[in-house]
Formats: sequence, C-alpha cells, structure tokens
Amino acid sequence: MVERFRAMMVTKDGDAQSVGFQNIGVDDLMSGDTVVNVEFSTLNYKDGLVLTGAAPVARTFPMIPGIDLVGTVESCEGSAFAPGDKVILNGYGLSETHFGGYAARARVKSEWLVALPDNMTSRQAMAIGTAGYTAMLCVMALEECGVMPGQGPILVTGASGGVGSVAVALLAKLGFEVVASTGRAEEEPYLKDLGASSIVSRDDLSGKPRALAKEIYAGAVDSVGSNTLANVLSQTKYGGAVAACGLAGGMDLPGSVAPFILRGVTLRGIDSVQAPLAKRQEAYKRLAQDLDLEKLETMITDVPLSEIVEWGGKILAGQVRGRVVVDVNA
Ligand code: NDP
Repeated sequence: MVERFRAMMVTKDGDAQSVGFQNIGVDDLMSGDTVVNVEFSTLNYKDGLVLTGAAPVARTFPMIPGIDLVGTVESCEGSAFAPGDKVILNGYGLSETHFGGYAARARVKSEWLVALPDNMTSRQAMAIGTAGYTAMLCVMALEECGVMPGQGPILVTGASGGVGSVAVALLAKLGFEVVASTGRAEEEPYLKDLGASSIVSRDDLSGKPRALAKEIYAGAVDSVGSNTLANVLSQTKYGGAVAACGLAGGMDLPGSVAPFILRGVTLRGIDSVQAPLAKRQEAYKRLAQDLDLEKLETMITDVPLSEIVEWGGKILAGQVRGRVVVDVNA
C-alpha cells in the first residue's frame, strides 16, 4: 500500500482561498529528483502572505505552502545526495510555483538543496530559515561594499522580526556597533541581549524623508522599505552601503538620488529566492561560523503545523518576535 502523509493545502475557488489538511502520497507531489522526509519548516513574512492570501505569492493552486524546509533525504535519483543526508531548502519557488515545506514529505530538485552544516541541528537550521539566511546575505553584501567595524554604527530596521533579529546578532558578533530600529519598545531588552547597543523608534524613520539628513550610519540592513528605506539612505554616511531586502512597511521608495550622487552611497538589493547555490553555501558556512547559537535560541517560538494559519495572520500584523520554527509532524 502506498504510504500517505499529511500536507497543508491552499486551494482556490474563484477569489475565495481556503487552507486545510489533506492526506496525500508521494506521487501527488510535484516533480523532482529527490524526496525529503521533512522535519521542520518555518514561518516567514512571505508565508504569512500565502496563508492569509494577502498577496498573490502562490501562483498555482492547489499549493502546499512553506518556503523553507529541513529534513532527511529518502531517495535521490542522482549522485548529489544519499539517503540519510540532512538537507536544507530555502526559496527556489517553494510555495510559489512548487509545493513547499508544510508537509511530511517534499519532492524537489537536488540542485536546490544545501547540506545541513555539521554543527547545526535541523531545528536551528529552520530557526535561521529564509529570514536568517537573508540576513546573512545582507551582511555579506555590506562586507562586499567595504563596510567594516569601526566605520560607524550599522542600522537594522524591523529589528524584532526574523531578518532583523538574525542581522542584529550577526553584526554584533562580527564586531559592528548595531543600532536596532523597532516599533515595539518593549523588545528593547531582547534586542540588547542580541547585541544592539542602542534602539531607535520605528516612528523616527517612517516620516516624510529628506533628500539628505545628518550622516549617522556606515551601513544598514533594511527589511521595511518605503519611507523607512528612504530615510535610512538619507542618514547613511559618505561611502556607506544599505542592503535592502524587505517591504514590511511598503513596496515604494519615495526618496531622492542625493545620497547616491552626493555621498556615493550604495543601495544593494538582496534576493534570497533565486540566489545561486554557491552563494547559499557560502551563506550557510558563514552562519555556522558567525551566528551565536545561544542568541538564536532566544529568537525561537516553536509552533505545530496544526496552528500555523493563526500565526500567518500574526506575522503580517507585526506580532511575531524573532523566528517561528514549525514542526510539520505536529
Ligand atoms: P517579520 O514579520 O518577522 O519582520 C518584519 C518586521 O518589520 C516586524 O517584526 C516589525 O519589526 C517591522 N514592521 C512590520 N510592519 C511594519 C510597518 N508597517 N512599518 C515598519 N516596520 C514594520 O518578517 P521577516 O523578517 O520574515 O521579513 C521581513 C521582510 O523581508 C518582509 O518584507 C519579507 O518579505 C522580506 N524578505 C525578503 C527576502 C528576500 O529575499 N528579499 C527574504 C526574507 C524576507 P519591529 O516590530 O521591530 O519594528
């Protein structure tokens, strides 16, 4: 008898979206050369968009949501992985055009998979997830732009969120002075424990931007976009760099070219979804080395897959602190 397993499915009837569980078999999964027994997935902002239908992220229905997964290879047609290998998958169209991680099994392409680093557990890999791996890509981008400790503070916006929390911890461990911007004043102790040396209110960055403001930051990691990103650019020091990865505050960028043409500021765009494998492998190597796993633990909320729909609404409302790890078998 073909073994069946639980999968969360997003279905659409006209404009009406529903989310529920189905029991399916491996043959119901999309094509791929590798079958993975999934242990954990995560909840990212983008997962919230899919679960609630707030934005058209999923492009084909029915869809298994979950942009991240970690698990054990059950079978691999090629030689890239052997049964029993532990693997991580972030992005690559999961939950958009290919079934994602909110199911006990996934069938995917082996070239999408990164080997789980030796010193990292499956749960820690998902505590990192797309948000944490994107934070690492942002830090690597700042380094590539020549931003170094000692040049001035680095601002992290949306700091209590997933990208923000990991960025604060990484930058602090690398010796940068980190300023965390948050709309949740009550999270100041959490952010300081992660390594922030001071806190800026979200409101201080969300007003109408000036073309140029006082030069404060040597660099920034921005997960908010819109007015916030324009204000961040206007406060970036001569020759500094800003890594922009998010849109939690909006998708527009109502700023000026002045920071670029008068201060030589660099705006680096960060995409995690289609980032090439070599870049991902480098990011995980760096995460295994530069992320304090005790600090990572303070970011984690463990949630069973059975409760994830409710959490999807919470992350869009800015009510999730740090990272959510999803036990797909609970
Ligand atoms: P989270 O929801 O965990 O974090 C976002 C944070 O932004 C919130 O915690 C909150 O932080 C702040 N925030 C929320 N709403 C607003 C608002 N209206 N105005 C200003 N700040 C706000 O999400 P993630 O960390 O998972 O993702 C962050 C962003 O990065 C998202 O837009 C996501 O789509 C994007 N992203 C992009 C990737 C890429 O490849 N480019 C990959 C991963 C994420 P606080 O309460 O501290 O202010």
